[in-house]
Parts: sequence; structure tokens; C-alpha cells
Amino acid sequence: IVTITKAAFKTDNSQRIFKEAQDLLPGGVNSPVRAFKSVGGQPIVFDRVKGPYAFDVDGNKYVDYVGSWGPAICGHANDQVNAALIKQLEKGTSFGAPCELENTLAKMVIDRVPSVEMVRFCNSGTEACLSVLRVMRAHTGREKIIKFEGCYHGHADPFLVQAGSGVMTLGLPDSPGVPKGATGTTLCASYNDIESVKKIFAENKDEIAGVILEPVVGNSGFIVPDKSFLEGLRTECDANGALLCFDEVMTGFRVDKGCAQAYFGVTPDLTTMGKVIGGGLPVGAYGGKREIMEIVAPAGPMYQAGTLSGNPLAMTAGIETLNILSQPGAYEEMDRKTKTLIEGILKAGKDNGHAVCGGNIRGMFGFFFCEGPVKSFQDATKSDLDKFGRWHRGMLERGVYLAPSQYEAGFTGMQHSDEDIAYTIKMANEVMATL
Ligand code: PLP
Repeated sequence: IVTITKAAFKTDNSQRIFKEAQDLLPGGVNSPVRAFKSVGGQPIVFDRVKGPYAFDVDGNKYVDYVGSWGPAICGHANDQVNAALIKQLEKGTSFGAPCELENTLAKMVIDRVPSVEMVRFCNSGTEACLSVLRVMRAHTGREKIIKFEGCYHGHADPFLVQAGSGVMTLGLPDSPGVPKGATGTTLCASYNDIESVKKIFAENKDEIAGVILEPVVGNSGFIVPDKSFLEGLRTECDANGALLCFDEVMTGFRVDKGCAQAYFGVTPDLTTMGKVIGGGLPVGAYGGKREIMEIVAPAGPMYQAGTLSGNPLAMTAGIETLNILSQPGAYEEMDRKTKTLIEGILKAGKDNGHAVCGGNIRGMFGFFFCEGPVKSFQDATKSDLDKFGRWHRGMLERGVYLAPSQYEAGFTGMQHSDEDIAYTIKMANEVMATL
């Protein structure tokens, strides 16, 4: 593969466009982490993406491990997805009425995801999470929820408590504008620490509507759950009459065809989805047991709606993406390549005398600049952020686009080739030697 060399790396056009954007958009972006605040330097402005690559407005080519923050699991602008989208485009971009594509994608989700018997599509992961919260409260008649330090569930008020990457990257513990009343019922436990959950249940008897978590964390960096922790949550929720929700917006269809719940063999009551399920178009979804989901309007009294929900283009991209992911061996192959990648990066770090730890599950990976293991957000904060910033810049200048924050996971896709991975490891060795 040919990307760029450090000597040829230019950012004149990116700088010009971002300078103008800062006058037009708050911070020059439409989503905070894109602004490179935590790694320093200026963000790169993209021109186009294809397969595992991104091309910027200065002609630089990158191997991309952000993948639009998750959706691009079949590679960017996948030909099969694009062809289906073009065909659908001719039939209209939005109906605001039922279409059969919604049934098709719903059946695919229900087939694949153990906890889902019924699903509601919406337009983002944030919408999915705030809606599922309403379901948990409506179903149980209780108001309090348990979330975990460092887990992100979108930017709705009740979740902006110890919410991981984006918020943390800006150094804001919480966001101004979120009223106390909105977060007063959000109780925070420590990830991988079942005792911290038991304690909250004991102190709030019969008051907890549900527990929500990232079943593999991607928003404090990449953190793997102990299987016993997930099993413990299932037991505690059952014992206390609370609902368990896996927020699989990031992990859904990325760590397994049946999401993290299939991978770990622990079935929640409710699941939120996004990213991959929209194949690069704006989609979110939440689903669960029929008896719970039937509370959602118009089947039941819990209101939730959306002008563009179930949008035919988004459904089409989701259907084709899940079809492609059904190819035999898709996840095994992603696992093999991603393992090679992360092991190569860790070796490059150790060979150059750095403390590093990390890992992957299928197409999701990450590492920290500290001695491991990292099991919680508290552990993650031990990572050397200055070093991460220099690592990020060094890789960028050598044609490797990584998430611009230590507190984000990395993503591979089916189209990353062995050559792309080998190139990345070679550059990792170069950069680790300079840190
Ligand atoms: N939940 C998780 C686990 C996420 O990673 C994200 C986004 O990164 C969200 C929810 C919010 O999704 P969206 O950005 O589509 O609103």
C-alpha cells in the first residue's frame, strides 16, 4: 500500500478549512472528539473514504482505524452497500410511512441478537439510549438507574455523569446545562466491580429500574469485562426486579454476529444498537423481550417517535452491511487481523521500553501507555496522555489515522488487508522509537 511519508505530510488545506469552520461551527466541528483537543495539533479534513482508507483535502492517504467511529466495518463506501443505496435512492429518500425494509432489518436483528424479540428503529445511539431508559422506567415504575464510570451512552441529560471519552477529553466532569434533577437518579458504579453494584442495590431497595453498561467498554479506551461481572449483573438485576440493558451501540455486530451478549453468553433484557446497524447512515435501535417492548407507543403508552425513523436509505445500508457480515468466517478473519495488529503495536511499544497494555475482541481494539491490566475507568486514567498525543501525531504523519483520544477504542473492518496491518506495525515501530 502507498500512503504518505512523514516528509511529504502536508496539512495546508486542512488548516485553512478548519480555521474557517471555527468561525462557523462551535469549535469547528459537529462532534467534539473530532477536534483533536486531547492529542494537540489540528484535525484533518477528509475529502473521501474508500475501503480501509481515508483521503484528506491535502492529498494524504491514511489507513483508517476510526471507520467513522464504528459503522465502516465492511470498509468505507462498500460497493455492495453503495449499489443498494443508489437503487433505493431512486425510490425516494424518506417515506414517513411504513416500508418493508423495516421488517427485513428487524427480522435480521431479531434473528441475530439473543435478547431482541421486538425492535424500534430511531436515528442515533443517543436516541436509542434515552428511549431505552424511558422503557426501563415505564416497565418497572421506578426511576433510578445504575451506570458505570467511564461508560458513554450518548449525550442525553441523565447519562452525562462520568461519561467517558468525549466529556473526559474536554476535562468536564459533567456538562453545564444538565439540571441536577436530570442526573439525581443516575447512580454510578465501578466497571468490573460487582460489589459496587450490590452496594447500590442494597442502598436503594426496590428503587432501581435498571442497569445499563457497555458490555465491552470503548469509551474509556478499550476495556474487556470479566465474564463473571456480566453474569453477576444478570443475577443482581433478577434478584432486585431491575432490567439489564447492554448498550451495544459500539459492540453490536462488531464483536460478534449476535453482539457482545452472544460473545459472552449473557442475555440482557434490553439492547441498544447503532453505528454498524446503519452501515454509515444515521440509525439507532433498541429492542428486547416482547413483553417489555410492547409498552412502546402505539402498542403501549410509552411515547417515542421520529420523523426519519426507519428511513429507507438507512434500513438499506443496515441490511446490506449485516448481509456482508454474514459471510462465513467474517468475524474470525477480523479477529486474526486485529490480533496481529494489536500484538504488533504492543511489541513495538515494549521493544522501545514503553509500558503498554491492550488487546482486542474481533474488530475492536485498544491499548494504554501504562502497566496493565486496565479493568476500569480508574485504571485507564493511569495511561500517559502526553505520550499518547505524540504517538497519535507520529502515526498520523505516517499515514495511519487513529482515534484522536486515548479514551477511545480502535476499529478494524473486513477490508483491512494484511498489508495494511503490516504497514501500520512498521510505522508503529518507527513512532514508538521516537517517544
Ligand atoms: N452508546 C455508545 C456505547 C456509544 O459508543 C455511542 C457513541 O459513540 C453512543 C451510545 C451514542 O451514539 P450516537 O453518537 O450515535 O448518538
